[in-house]
Amino acid sequence: MFLTISTTGAPERPATDLGFLLHKHPEKAQAFSTSYGTAHVLYPEADAERCTAALLLEVDAVALVRRGKGKGRGGAPDAALAQYVNDRPYAASSLLAVALSGVFSSAMRGVCNARPELPAQPRPLRIEVPALPARGGPDLVRRLFEPLGWTVTAEPVALDAEFPEWGDSRYVRLVLEADTLTLAEALRHLYVLLPVLDDAKHYWVASDEVDKLLRAGEGWLPAHPEQKLIAGRYLSRRWSLTRQAMERLELVRLAEADDTDVEEIDNAVAAETEDGAEEKPAPLAVQRREAIVAALRASGAARVLDLGCGQGQLVQELLRDPSFTEIVGVDVSMRALAIASRRLRLDRMGERQAARVQLLQGSLAYTDHRLEGYDAAVLSEVIEHLDLPRLPALEYAVFGAARPRTVLVTTPNVEYNVRWESLPAGHVRHGDHRFEWTREEFRAWARKVAERHGYGVEFVPVGPDDPEVGPPTQMAVFRAGTAKEAKAA
Ligand code: SAH
Repeated sequence: MFLTISTTGAPERPATDLGFLLHKHPEKAQAFSTSYGTAHVLYPEADAERCTAALLLEVDAVALVRRGKGKGRGGAPDAALAQYVNDRPYAASSLLAVALSGVFSSAMRGVCNARPELPAQPRPLRIEVPALPARGGPDLVRRLFEPLGWTVTAEPVALDAEFPEWGDSRYVRLVLEADTLTLAEALRHLYVLLPVLDDAKHYWVASDEVDKLLRAGEGWLPAHPEQKLIAGRYLSRRWSLTRQAMERLELVRLAEADDTDVEEIDNAVAAETEDGAEEKPAPLAVQRREAIVAALRASGAARVLDLGCGQGQLVQELLRDPSFTEIVGVDVSMRALAIASRRLRLDRMGERQAARVQLLQGSLAYTDHRLEGYDAAVLSEVIEHLDLPRLPALEYAVFGAARPRTVLVTTPNVEYNVRWESLPAGHVRHGDHRFEWTREEFRAWARKVAERHGYGVEFVPVGPDDPEVGPPTQMAVFRAGTAKEAKAA
Protein backbone atom coordinates (compact mmCIF):
# COMPACT_ATOMS: atom_id res chain seq x y z
CA MET A 1 0.00 0.00 0.00
CA PHE A 2 1.39 3.40 -0.81
CA LEU A 3 0.75 7.09 -1.19
CA THR A 4 2.52 9.88 -2.99
CA ILE A 5 2.88 13.52 -2.02
CA SER A 6 3.70 15.93 -4.84
CA THR A 7 4.33 19.63 -5.01
CA THR A 8 5.18 22.10 -7.73
CA GLY A 9 7.56 25.03 -7.46
CA ALA A 10 9.31 27.93 -9.05
CA PRO A 11 13.04 28.87 -9.06
CA GLU A 12 12.68 30.98 -5.90
CA ARG A 13 10.54 28.31 -4.17
CA PRO A 14 11.81 25.03 -5.60
CA ALA A 15 9.60 21.97 -5.39
CA THR A 16 12.53 20.08 -3.86
CA ASP A 17 11.87 22.00 -0.62
CA LEU A 18 9.59 19.05 -0.04
CA GLY A 19 12.73 17.13 0.94
CA PHE A 20 13.45 19.65 3.71
CA LEU A 21 9.86 19.57 4.89
CA LEU A 22 9.80 15.80 5.07
CA HIS A 23 13.33 15.57 6.47
CA LYS A 24 14.09 13.06 3.75
CA HIS A 25 16.68 13.78 1.09
CA PRO A 26 15.27 13.55 -2.46
CA GLU A 27 18.36 11.79 -3.78
CA LYS A 28 18.24 8.94 -1.33
CA ALA A 29 15.82 6.06 -1.18
CA GLN A 30 15.39 5.24 2.49
CA ALA A 31 13.90 2.30 4.30
CA PHE A 32 12.59 2.31 7.85
CA SER A 33 11.91 -0.90 9.58
CA THR A 34 8.78 -0.94 11.70
CA SER A 35 7.23 -3.63 13.83
CA TYR A 36 4.86 -4.62 11.02
CA GLY A 37 7.20 -4.38 8.04
CA THR A 38 9.25 -1.86 6.12
CA ALA A 39 8.35 1.68 5.14
CA HIS A 40 10.22 3.01 2.10
CA VAL A 41 10.50 6.67 1.20
CA LEU A 42 11.64 7.48 -2.30
CA TYR A 43 11.29 10.29 -4.79
CA PRO A 44 10.13 9.23 -8.27
CA GLU A 45 10.73 12.83 -9.40
CA ALA A 46 12.64 15.70 -7.84
CA ASP A 47 13.43 18.95 -9.60
CA ALA A 48 12.65 22.62 -9.08
CA GLU A 49 9.30 22.38 -10.91
CA ARG A 50 7.97 19.09 -9.60
CA CYS A 51 8.85 16.92 -6.69
CA THR A 52 7.08 13.74 -5.57
CA ALA A 53 7.76 11.72 -2.47
CA ALA A 54 6.36 8.21 -2.25
CA LEU A 55 5.73 6.34 0.97
CA LEU A 56 5.55 2.64 0.30
CA LEU A 57 4.58 0.26 3.02
CA GLU A 58 5.65 -3.32 2.73
CA VAL A 59 3.63 -5.18 5.33
CA ASP A 60 5.50 -8.17 6.65
CA ALA A 61 2.61 -10.52 7.32
CA VAL A 62 4.91 -13.27 8.48
CA ALA A 63 6.49 -11.03 11.09
CA LEU A 64 3.02 -9.96 12.20
CA VAL A 65 1.97 -13.55 12.62
CA ARG A 66 5.19 -14.66 14.30
CA ARG A 67 5.08 -11.74 16.65
CA GLY A 68 1.44 -12.48 17.32
CA LYS A 69 2.36 -16.03 18.20
CA GLY A 70 4.75 -14.85 20.88
CA LYS A 71 8.23 -14.20 19.68
CA GLY A 72 11.02 -15.73 21.67
CA ARG A 73 9.04 -18.60 23.04
CA GLY A 74 11.06 -20.93 20.85
CA GLY A 75 9.87 -23.78 18.69
CA ALA A 76 9.25 -23.91 14.98
CA PRO A 77 6.77 -21.51 13.43
CA ASP A 78 3.39 -23.09 12.96
CA ALA A 79 3.40 -24.30 9.38
CA ALA A 80 -0.36 -24.68 9.29
CA LEU A 81 -0.75 -21.11 10.37
CA ALA A 82 1.88 -19.76 8.01
CA GLN A 83 0.06 -21.04 4.98
CA TYR A 84 -2.92 -18.88 5.87
CA VAL A 85 -0.85 -15.76 5.97
CA ASN A 86 -1.82 -15.10 2.37
CA ASP A 87 -5.40 -14.18 3.10
CA ARG A 88 -4.43 -11.27 5.29
CA PRO A 89 -5.60 -7.93 3.86
CA TYR A 90 -2.56 -5.91 2.98
CA ALA A 91 -4.19 -2.60 2.34
CA ALA A 92 -4.98 -1.62 5.90
CA SER A 93 -4.70 2.13 5.78
CA SER A 94 -4.43 2.29 9.54
CA LEU A 95 -0.95 0.86 9.08
CA LEU A 96 -0.23 3.53 6.50
CA ALA A 97 -1.30 6.20 8.95
CA VAL A 98 0.96 4.72 11.60
CA ALA A 99 3.82 4.70 9.10
CA LEU A 100 3.12 8.33 8.16
CA SER A 101 3.35 9.47 11.74
CA GLY A 102 6.47 7.43 12.33
CA VAL A 103 8.42 8.31 9.22
CA PHE A 104 7.30 11.95 8.92
CA SER A 105 6.85 12.82 12.58
CA SER A 106 8.70 16.16 12.43
CA ALA A 107 6.87 17.14 9.25
CA MET A 108 3.58 16.34 10.90
CA ARG A 109 4.45 18.55 13.84
CA GLY A 110 5.54 21.31 11.44
CA VAL A 111 9.16 21.31 12.56
CA CYS A 112 12.05 21.98 10.18
CA ASN A 113 15.30 22.92 11.86
CA ALA A 114 17.18 23.49 8.62
CA ARG A 115 14.55 25.87 7.21
CA PRO A 116 12.34 26.98 10.13
CA GLU A 117 10.22 29.28 7.95
CA LEU A 118 9.12 26.53 5.54
CA PRO A 119 6.52 24.52 7.49
CA ALA A 120 4.18 27.47 8.00
CA GLN A 121 4.00 28.23 4.29
CA PRO A 122 1.14 26.66 2.33
CA ARG A 123 2.22 25.18 -0.96
CA PRO A 124 0.58 23.42 -3.89
CA LEU A 125 0.04 19.85 -2.82
CA ARG A 126 -1.22 16.76 -4.58
CA ILE A 127 -1.67 13.54 -2.63
CA GLU A 128 -2.58 10.26 -4.25
CA VAL A 129 -3.59 6.99 -2.63
CA PRO A 130 -4.23 4.45 -5.39
CA ALA A 131 -6.20 2.01 -3.25
CA LEU A 132 -7.75 3.44 -0.13
CA PRO A 133 -10.19 1.32 1.87
CA ALA A 134 -13.13 3.68 2.25
CA ARG A 135 -16.16 2.54 4.16
CA GLY A 136 -18.86 4.93 3.09
CA GLY A 137 -17.51 5.20 -0.45
CA PRO A 138 -16.50 8.21 -2.54
CA ASP A 139 -19.31 10.29 -1.08
CA LEU A 140 -18.00 10.04 2.45
CA VAL A 141 -14.44 10.63 1.21
CA ARG A 142 -15.61 13.96 -0.20
CA ARG A 143 -17.54 14.88 2.92
CA LEU A 144 -14.42 14.31 4.96
CA PHE A 145 -11.80 16.07 2.84
CA GLU A 146 -13.66 18.85 1.00
CA PRO A 147 -14.44 20.91 4.13
CA LEU A 148 -10.71 21.02 4.79
CA GLY A 149 -9.96 22.80 1.51
CA TRP A 150 -9.09 19.82 -0.64
CA THR A 151 -10.28 19.29 -4.19
CA VAL A 152 -11.19 15.63 -4.08
CA THR A 153 -11.15 13.01 -6.81
CA ALA A 154 -12.42 9.70 -5.45
CA GLU A 155 -13.07 6.90 -7.90
CA PRO A 156 -14.42 3.54 -6.80
CA VAL A 157 -12.25 0.52 -7.61
CA ALA A 158 -14.07 -2.62 -8.84
CA LEU A 159 -14.10 -5.38 -6.25
CA ASP A 160 -12.90 -8.04 -8.63
CA ALA A 161 -12.77 -7.84 -12.39
CA GLU A 162 -13.72 -11.52 -12.53
CA PHE A 163 -16.92 -11.01 -10.53
CA PRO A 164 -18.59 -7.85 -11.83
CA GLU A 165 -21.76 -8.75 -9.92
CA TRP A 166 -19.89 -8.02 -6.70
CA GLY A 167 -19.89 -4.36 -7.73
CA ASP A 168 -17.39 -1.86 -6.44
CA SER A 169 -14.98 -2.74 -3.71
CA ARG A 170 -14.67 -0.62 -0.62
CA TYR A 171 -11.52 0.82 -2.16
CA VAL A 172 -11.27 4.15 -3.92
CA ARG A 173 -8.49 5.78 -5.85
CA LEU A 174 -8.06 9.05 -4.02
CA VAL A 175 -6.44 12.24 -5.30
CA LEU A 176 -6.38 15.32 -3.07
CA GLU A 177 -5.29 18.70 -4.37
CA ALA A 178 -4.93 22.02 -2.58
CA ASP A 179 -2.91 25.24 -2.75
CA THR A 180 -3.87 26.64 0.59
CA LEU A 181 -2.66 24.02 3.01
CA THR A 182 0.67 23.39 4.67
CA LEU A 183 2.29 19.99 4.46
CA ALA A 184 1.89 19.55 8.22
CA GLU A 185 -1.86 20.12 7.94
CA ALA A 186 -2.09 17.70 5.04
CA LEU A 187 -0.28 14.97 6.97
CA ARG A 188 -2.48 15.45 10.00
CA HIS A 189 -5.61 15.19 7.88
CA LEU A 190 -4.37 11.90 6.45
CA TYR A 191 -3.26 10.59 9.81
CA VAL A 192 -6.80 10.87 11.19
CA LEU A 193 -8.97 10.39 8.13
CA LEU A 194 -7.30 7.37 6.50
CA PRO A 195 -8.10 5.13 9.47
CA VAL A 196 -11.54 6.71 9.83
CA LEU A 197 -12.31 5.63 6.27
CA ASP A 198 -10.76 2.23 6.73
CA ASP A 199 -13.21 -0.48 7.67
CA ALA A 200 -10.44 -2.95 8.43
CA LYS A 201 -9.22 -3.60 11.89
CA HIS A 202 -6.99 -1.06 13.51
CA TYR A 203 -3.48 -1.72 14.56
CA TRP A 204 -3.43 1.01 17.18
CA VAL A 205 -1.93 -0.28 20.36
CA ALA A 206 -1.40 2.92 22.35
CA SER A 207 -3.71 3.86 25.15
CA ASP A 208 -3.50 7.60 24.51
CA GLU A 209 -5.53 7.56 21.35
CA VAL A 210 -7.93 10.28 22.40
CA ASP A 211 -4.98 12.59 23.01
CA LYS A 212 -3.55 11.67 19.63
CA LEU A 213 -6.83 12.40 17.88
CA LEU A 214 -7.13 15.79 19.53
CA ARG A 215 -3.51 16.65 18.79
CA ALA A 216 -3.70 15.60 15.15
CA GLY A 217 -7.09 17.26 14.81
CA GLU A 218 -5.89 20.57 16.22
CA GLY A 219 -6.95 23.45 14.02
CA TRP A 220 -9.35 21.51 11.83
CA LEU A 221 -11.34 18.87 13.65
CA PRO A 222 -13.27 21.15 16.02
CA ALA A 223 -14.83 22.98 13.05
CA HIS A 224 -15.32 19.97 10.80
CA PRO A 225 -18.99 19.36 9.86
CA GLU A 226 -18.43 15.59 10.08
CA GLN A 227 -16.67 15.90 13.42
CA LYS A 228 -19.15 13.61 15.13
CA LEU A 229 -18.70 10.84 12.59
CA ILE A 230 -14.90 11.20 12.66
CA ALA A 231 -14.67 11.08 16.42
CA GLY A 232 -17.32 8.36 16.64
CA ARG A 233 -15.52 6.03 14.28
CA TYR A 234 -12.12 6.80 15.67
CA LEU A 235 -13.07 6.35 19.28
CA SER A 236 -15.37 3.40 18.85
CA ARG A 237 -12.55 1.57 17.17
CA ARG A 238 -10.42 2.38 20.12
CA TRP A 239 -13.27 1.33 22.36
CA SER A 240 -13.52 -1.98 20.58
CA LEU A 241 -9.83 -2.50 21.22
CA THR A 242 -9.62 -1.30 24.78
CA ARG A 243 -12.49 -3.44 25.90
CA GLN A 244 -10.43 -6.43 24.96
CA ALA A 245 -8.34 -7.84 27.76
CA MET A 246 -4.57 -7.30 27.63
CA GLU A 247 -3.85 -10.84 26.59
CA ARG A 248 -5.98 -10.36 23.49
CA LEU A 249 -3.94 -7.47 22.16
CA GLU A 250 -1.67 -9.81 20.32
CA LEU A 251 -4.65 -11.52 18.77
CA VAL A 252 -6.16 -8.26 17.69
CA ARG A 253 -3.04 -7.44 15.72
CA LEU A 254 -3.29 -10.82 14.12
CA ALA A 255 -6.95 -10.86 13.39
CA GLU A 256 -8.33 -9.79 10.10
CA ALA A 257 -11.42 -7.64 9.88
CA ASP A 258 -14.03 -10.20 10.64
CA ASP A 259 -17.76 -9.73 10.75
CA THR A 260 -17.98 -9.47 14.44
CA ASP A 261 -15.73 -6.52 14.75
CA VAL A 262 -17.10 -4.60 11.80
CA GLU A 263 -20.56 -5.00 13.20
CA GLU A 264 -19.52 -4.19 16.73
CA ILE A 265 -17.92 -1.02 15.48
CA ASP A 266 -20.90 -0.01 13.39
CA ASN A 267 -23.27 -0.70 16.17
CA ALA A 268 -21.34 1.51 18.52
CA VAL A 269 -21.12 4.25 15.90
CA ALA A 270 -24.82 4.04 15.17
CA ALA A 271 -25.57 4.33 18.85
CA GLU A 272 -23.37 7.36 19.25
CA THR A 273 -24.10 9.24 16.10
CA GLU A 274 -27.74 8.48 15.44
CA ASP A 275 -29.57 9.01 18.65
CA GLY A 276 -26.74 10.61 20.55
CA ALA A 277 -27.30 8.11 23.33
CA GLU A 278 -24.74 8.22 26.09
CA GLU A 279 -24.98 4.55 26.78
CA LYS A 280 -23.97 2.05 24.15
CA PRO A 281 -26.39 -0.81 23.62
CA ALA A 282 -24.78 -4.22 23.64
CA PRO A 283 -23.01 -4.66 20.30
CA LEU A 284 -24.92 -6.79 17.86
CA ALA A 285 -22.40 -9.61 18.10
CA VAL A 286 -23.01 -9.74 21.85
CA GLN A 287 -26.78 -9.68 21.42
CA ARG A 288 -26.44 -12.48 18.90
CA ARG A 289 -24.45 -14.65 21.30
CA GLU A 290 -26.96 -13.95 24.05
CA ALA A 291 -29.85 -14.98 21.80
CA ILE A 292 -28.01 -18.16 20.80
CA VAL A 293 -27.15 -19.12 24.37
CA ALA A 294 -30.76 -18.48 25.45
CA ALA A 295 -32.12 -20.68 22.64
CA LEU A 296 -29.61 -23.43 23.47
CA ARG A 297 -30.58 -23.36 27.13
CA ALA A 298 -34.26 -23.49 26.21
CA SER A 299 -33.58 -26.55 24.08
CA GLY A 300 -31.97 -28.35 27.01
CA ALA A 301 -28.87 -29.11 24.95
CA ALA A 302 -25.75 -30.32 26.75
CA ARG A 303 -23.49 -31.33 23.85
CA VAL A 304 -23.18 -28.51 21.35
CA LEU A 305 -21.49 -27.95 18.01
CA ASP A 306 -20.43 -24.45 16.97
CA LEU A 307 -20.12 -24.85 13.21
CA GLY A 308 -18.00 -22.14 11.62
CA CYS A 309 -16.87 -21.12 15.11
CA GLY A 310 -14.44 -18.52 13.77
CA GLN A 311 -12.28 -17.07 16.52
CA GLY A 312 -14.12 -18.88 19.30
CA GLN A 313 -16.14 -16.12 20.99
CA LEU A 314 -19.26 -18.29 21.30
CA VAL A 315 -17.30 -21.35 22.44
CA GLN A 316 -15.82 -19.16 25.17
CA GLU A 317 -19.27 -17.99 26.20
CA LEU A 318 -20.65 -21.54 26.29
CA LEU A 319 -17.77 -22.74 28.47
CA ARG A 320 -18.99 -20.41 31.21
CA ASP A 321 -22.21 -22.37 31.56
CA PRO A 322 -21.68 -25.81 33.10
CA SER A 323 -24.95 -27.12 31.62
CA PHE A 324 -23.04 -27.35 28.34
CA THR A 325 -20.97 -30.44 29.01
CA GLU A 326 -19.33 -30.74 25.61
CA ILE A 327 -18.59 -27.94 23.18
CA VAL A 328 -17.07 -28.53 19.79
CA GLY A 329 -15.95 -25.67 17.57
CA VAL A 330 -15.53 -26.47 13.89
CA ASP A 331 -14.04 -24.21 11.27
CA VAL A 332 -12.43 -24.56 7.88
CA SER A 333 -9.84 -21.91 8.69
CA MET A 334 -6.76 -23.06 10.61
CA ARG A 335 -5.95 -19.46 11.25
CA ALA A 336 -9.31 -18.82 12.91
CA LEU A 337 -8.85 -21.98 14.98
CA ALA A 338 -5.36 -20.94 16.05
CA ILE A 339 -6.79 -17.64 17.27
CA ALA A 340 -9.68 -19.43 18.98
CA SER A 341 -7.26 -21.75 20.72
CA ARG A 342 -5.27 -18.82 22.06
CA ARG A 343 -8.41 -16.99 23.12
CA LEU A 344 -9.57 -20.04 25.07
CA ARG A 345 -6.06 -20.66 26.43
CA LEU A 346 -6.50 -24.29 25.55
CA ASP A 347 -2.88 -25.02 26.41
CA ARG A 348 -3.27 -23.69 29.95
CA MET A 349 -6.75 -24.99 30.67
CA GLY A 350 -7.36 -27.31 33.60
CA GLU A 351 -8.10 -30.94 32.78
CA ARG A 352 -11.80 -30.79 33.54
CA GLN A 353 -12.41 -27.69 31.45
CA ALA A 354 -10.23 -29.04 28.67
CA ALA A 355 -12.30 -32.22 28.57
CA ARG A 356 -15.37 -30.12 27.71
CA VAL A 357 -14.01 -28.39 24.66
CA GLN A 358 -12.61 -29.38 21.29
CA LEU A 359 -11.66 -27.47 18.18
CA LEU A 360 -11.88 -29.34 14.89
CA GLN A 361 -10.76 -28.32 11.47
CA GLY A 362 -13.23 -29.29 8.81
CA SER A 363 -15.44 -28.06 6.02
CA LEU A 364 -19.18 -27.96 6.44
CA ALA A 365 -19.56 -28.63 2.75
CA TYR A 366 -18.68 -32.30 3.38
CA THR A 367 -20.36 -34.98 5.45
CA ASP A 368 -18.32 -35.45 8.62
CA HIS A 369 -18.99 -38.38 10.96
CA ARG A 370 -17.29 -36.59 13.84
CA LEU A 371 -20.31 -34.29 13.96
CA GLU A 372 -22.94 -36.97 14.53
CA GLY A 373 -24.87 -37.45 17.75
CA TYR A 374 -24.91 -33.93 19.23
CA ASP A 375 -27.84 -32.24 20.93
CA ALA A 376 -27.51 -28.96 19.10
CA ALA A 377 -25.55 -27.18 16.39
CA VAL A 378 -25.07 -23.47 15.86
CA LEU A 379 -24.39 -21.87 12.49
CA SER A 380 -23.83 -18.27 13.50
CA GLU A 381 -23.19 -15.93 10.57
CA VAL A 382 -21.80 -18.77 8.51
CA ILE A 383 -24.17 -19.64 5.66
CA GLU A 384 -23.64 -16.28 3.93
CA HIS A 385 -19.94 -17.11 3.62
CA LEU A 386 -20.69 -20.03 1.31
CA ASP A 387 -21.34 -19.65 -2.37
CA LEU A 388 -25.05 -20.31 -2.93
CA PRO A 389 -24.40 -23.45 -5.01
CA ARG A 390 -22.48 -24.93 -2.01
CA LEU A 391 -25.36 -24.36 0.40
CA PRO A 392 -27.19 -27.65 -0.37
CA ALA A 393 -24.00 -29.52 0.56
CA LEU A 394 -23.89 -27.78 3.94
CA GLU A 395 -27.61 -28.39 4.36
CA TYR A 396 -27.09 -32.12 3.82
CA ALA A 397 -23.98 -32.34 6.01
CA VAL A 398 -25.79 -30.66 8.94
CA PHE A 399 -29.48 -31.57 8.65
CA GLY A 400 -29.10 -34.82 6.72
CA ALA A 401 -25.97 -36.44 8.18
CA ALA A 402 -25.02 -34.87 11.53
CA ARG A 403 -28.69 -34.41 12.51
CA PRO A 404 -28.48 -32.66 15.87
CA ARG A 405 -31.86 -32.32 17.62
CA THR A 406 -31.68 -28.53 17.52
CA VAL A 407 -30.05 -26.33 14.88
CA LEU A 408 -29.72 -22.56 15.21
CA VAL A 409 -28.92 -20.57 12.09
CA THR A 410 -28.28 -16.82 12.12
CA THR A 411 -27.64 -14.62 9.11
CA PRO A 412 -27.83 -10.89 8.35
CA ASN A 413 -31.19 -9.47 7.33
CA VAL A 414 -30.30 -7.49 4.20
CA GLU A 415 -33.39 -5.30 4.59
CA TYR A 416 -31.80 -3.83 7.70
CA ASN A 417 -28.72 -2.63 5.79
CA VAL A 418 -30.36 0.74 5.08
CA ARG A 419 -30.17 1.36 8.83
CA TRP A 420 -26.37 1.02 9.00
CA GLU A 421 -25.10 4.57 9.01
CA SER A 422 -21.95 3.96 7.02
CA LEU A 423 -22.98 1.22 4.61
CA PRO A 424 -23.35 2.45 1.03
CA ALA A 425 -26.65 1.46 -0.57
CA GLY A 426 -26.63 -1.98 -2.10
CA HIS A 427 -23.50 -3.11 -0.30
CA VAL A 428 -23.22 -6.20 1.84
CA ARG A 429 -21.87 -5.90 5.37
CA HIS A 430 -18.67 -7.77 4.85
CA GLY A 431 -16.47 -8.35 1.82
CA ASP A 432 -16.67 -12.09 2.22
CA HIS A 433 -20.47 -12.33 2.28
CA ARG A 434 -21.52 -14.22 -0.83
CA PHE A 435 -25.15 -13.23 -0.33
CA GLU A 436 -27.42 -11.54 2.17
CA TRP A 437 -31.06 -12.44 2.41
CA THR A 438 -34.30 -10.63 3.14
CA ARG A 439 -36.48 -12.07 5.89
CA GLU A 440 -38.67 -13.71 3.26
CA GLU A 441 -35.73 -15.30 1.43
CA PHE A 442 -34.29 -16.70 4.65
CA ARG A 443 -37.64 -18.04 5.79
CA ALA A 444 -38.34 -19.68 2.46
CA TRP A 445 -34.93 -21.40 2.57
CA ALA A 446 -35.34 -22.46 6.20
CA ARG A 447 -38.86 -23.84 5.67
CA LYS A 448 -37.68 -25.93 2.74
CA VAL A 449 -34.73 -27.27 4.72
CA ALA A 450 -37.03 -28.14 7.64
CA GLU A 451 -39.47 -29.91 5.37
CA ARG A 452 -36.79 -31.89 3.54
CA HIS A 453 -35.15 -33.16 6.73
CA GLY A 454 -38.02 -33.53 9.16
CA TYR A 455 -37.50 -30.48 11.38
CA GLY A 456 -39.86 -27.81 12.61
CA VAL A 457 -38.66 -24.21 12.39
CA GLU A 458 -39.36 -20.92 14.15
CA PHE A 459 -37.88 -17.48 13.62
CA VAL A 460 -36.44 -15.18 16.25
CA PRO A 461 -35.32 -11.56 15.68
CA VAL A 462 -31.91 -10.56 17.07
CA GLY A 463 -31.22 -6.88 17.74
CA PRO A 464 -33.77 -4.07 17.49
CA ASP A 465 -36.76 -5.33 15.49
CA ASP A 466 -37.40 -2.36 13.20
CA PRO A 467 -41.09 -2.04 12.28
CA GLU A 468 -40.24 -1.48 8.62
CA VAL A 469 -37.11 -3.47 7.88
CA GLY A 470 -36.99 -6.00 10.69
CA PRO A 471 -34.02 -6.87 12.92
CA PRO A 472 -30.34 -6.67 11.87
CA THR A 473 -29.86 -10.40 12.46
CA GLN A 474 -32.39 -13.13 11.81
CA MET A 475 -32.28 -16.47 13.57
CA ALA A 476 -34.00 -19.73 12.67
CA VAL A 477 -34.51 -22.34 15.39
CA PHE A 478 -34.91 -25.85 13.95
CA ARG A 479 -36.15 -28.76 16.08
CA ALA A 480 -35.97 -32.33 14.85
CA GLY A 481 -39.20 -34.23 14.52
CA THR A 482 -41.49 -31.28 15.26
CA ALA A 483 -42.52 -30.63 11.69
CA LYS A 484 -46.17 -31.44 12.36
CA GLU A 485 -46.47 -29.28 15.45
CA ALA A 486 -44.82 -26.41 13.61
CA LYS A 487 -47.19 -26.78 10.70
CA ALA A 488 -50.17 -26.95 13.03
CA ALA A 489 -49.07 -23.79 14.86
N1 SAH B 1 -19.61 -18.13 14.01
C1 SAH B 1 -18.73 -17.00 14.16
C2 SAH B 1 -17.92 -16.68 12.91
C3 SAH B 1 -18.68 -16.28 11.70
S1 SAH B 1 -17.61 -15.88 10.33
C4 SAH B 1 -19.52 -15.78 14.60
O1 SAH B 1 -20.72 -15.82 14.65
O2 SAH B 1 -18.90 -14.77 14.91
C5 SAH B 1 -17.82 -17.31 9.31
C6 SAH B 1 -16.93 -18.45 9.68
O3 SAH B 1 -17.31 -19.56 8.90
C7 SAH B 1 -15.47 -18.20 9.39
O4 SAH B 1 -14.71 -18.48 10.52
C8 SAH B 1 -15.15 -19.15 8.25
O5 SAH B 1 -13.83 -19.64 8.31
C9 SAH B 1 -16.15 -20.24 8.49
N2 SAH B 1 -16.48 -21.01 7.28
C10 SAH B 1 -16.77 -20.52 6.05
N3 SAH B 1 -17.00 -21.53 5.22
C11 SAH B 1 -16.86 -22.69 5.91
C12 SAH B 1 -16.96 -24.05 5.60
N4 SAH B 1 -17.25 -24.45 4.36
N5 SAH B 1 -16.73 -24.96 6.56
C13 SAH B 1 -16.43 -24.57 7.83
N6 SAH B 1 -16.32 -23.28 8.18
C14 SAH B 1 -16.53 -22.35 7.24
